[in-house]
Amino acid sequence: MERKVRVRFAPSPTGPLHIGGVRTALYNYLFARQHGGDMILRIEDTDSNRFVPGAEDYINEALAWLGIGIDEGVREGGKYGPYKQSERRDIYRAHVKKLLDAGKAYIAFDTPEELEKARAEMPNFQYDASTRMAMRNSLSMPEEEVEKLIAEGTPYVVRFLINPGRDVEVNDLIRGKVTINSNILDDKVLYKSADDLPTYHLANIVDDHLMEISHVIRGEEWLPSAPLHVLLYEAFGWADTAPAFVHLPLLLKPDGKGKLSKRDGDRLGFPVFPLEWHDPKSGEISSGYREKGYLPQAVINFLALLGWNPGDDTELMNMEELIAKFSLDHCSKAGARFAFEKGKWFNHEYLMQMPGKELLKLFKPVMEANGINPADFPDDYLTRAIDMVKGRANFVNDLWEQGLFFFKAPEAYAEKDIKKRWKADTPAIMEELTEVLKQLPDFSSAAAEPVVLGWITDHGHHMGNVMNAFRLAVVGECKGPHMFDITELIGRDETIARLQRAIAAIQPAE
Ligand code: GLU
Repeated sequence: MERKVRVRFAPSPTGPLHIGGVRTALYNYLFARQHGGDMILRIEDTDSNRFVPGAEDYINEALAWLGIGIDEGVREGGKYGPYKQSERRDIYRAHVKKLLDAGKAYIAFDTPEELEKARAEMPNFQYDASTRMAMRNSLSMPEEEVEKLIAEGTPYVVRFLINPGRDVEVNDLIRGKVTINSNILDDKVLYKSADDLPTYHLANIVDDHLMEISHVIRGEEWLPSAPLHVLLYEAFGWADTAPAFVHLPLLLKPDGKGKLSKRDGDRLGFPVFPLEWHDPKSGEISSGYREKGYLPQAVINFLALLGWNPGDDTELMNMEELIAKFSLDHCSKAGARFAFEKGKWFNHEYLMQMPGKELLKLFKPVMEANGINPADFPDDYLTRAIDMVKGRANFVNDLWEQGLFFFKAPEAYAEKDIKKRWKADTPAIMEELTEVLKQLPDFSSAAAEPVVLGWITDHGHHMGNVMNAFRLAVVGECKGPHMFDITELIGRDETIARLQRAIAAIQPAE
């Protein structure tokens, strides 16, 4: 029988979720949904030194914003809980004991200073079969002494006993079979008595097993740990039900070589976090996709294609389409360049697709932030204005810059446009134009345009000069959507008032 797909996203709450972590969560989610499986969110907080307050809430908020749904987790509950590792100490303790009793792990007392000394004395020192007997542990010391030290409360760690000379096979669904020799592995620490907590390796294996995880989908940085994990499953006798491994390709710098870092974002001006993050210690604020005006669907679509493709050149896919099309076969081994400019393009596309009503909801706060009360305009007016300018916007905020003349008359006029378009005879022509506009029986774009253009031609005026001066008076500069669509929306009175104001305010260029 096919095994039920159960995947987990297992972040450590050591700071804000990085955009690479978001991609990992997304691929897990797509895979789970496609197979009708379960998506688990497990909080891996066993490294007490690196715990950061607020990080767990941040993870939940980011996933919710992006629409990455969780079936089982700290908030959602579920029958495999608790889903926070610091609440599973009893479970880990029992499993450490199992390994110790079976002789597959041992207790070590070496202090940090002793380990430091060993490293200093021996280049490439590694705690393994070749060195462990020279160290202070339950294999090298008499049993009574070990018991005495434990009874006295001496801090110790439990190490995994790695047998040398074994070929360890890791089967990765993207990378295929990778074989490495156990000689290069060290006897990893699995548990520390000092804080009564397991390390990542032990907690991860035990939980993946107990939570019946079918596929471990995670970043490439965890690939070097995979052989150790294979050996741990074996040591527990769980090799038959061990999850399949999937190590996702790295996210690379937008330019140059190497892994994407926060510094690249600072340097090139893009966020590397989904939401803005306020560092509780330093007070530093890091920008987030949400606060920068990205739509969650755009971020999802952009990230989905960083390491996976649908097999053709389709680019725009919403969450449902991604779920339908996603497949591990089309995930790449090679790192994916973080082309953040493409993210802007996706945002533009989703902005264009967004129903007017939705867009309006997002735009109203922007108006308010710019000192305009949206309630002063009918919704229909706002929607039509947005529709006219959204083609030039990547972000909701851009709608303001592109369309502010719909909400207030220009207070200044662009110098370079005055120079080019507002000549000595312009005020008189604009007065004539005012008369033409006053007399139009129908002020709609379709009706006004031929009349005004006809008047320009009949009077031998220069088409470009007149139309651009008109635009300068109404918009404040020579840009914007179709002129007669603008005047239709703002209406006859406002158009004429703006013309009159410009005639009074603009000093013609020489
Ligand atoms: N806690 C690890 C992390 O922070 C999980 C790695 C894994 O998925 O095994 O990414």
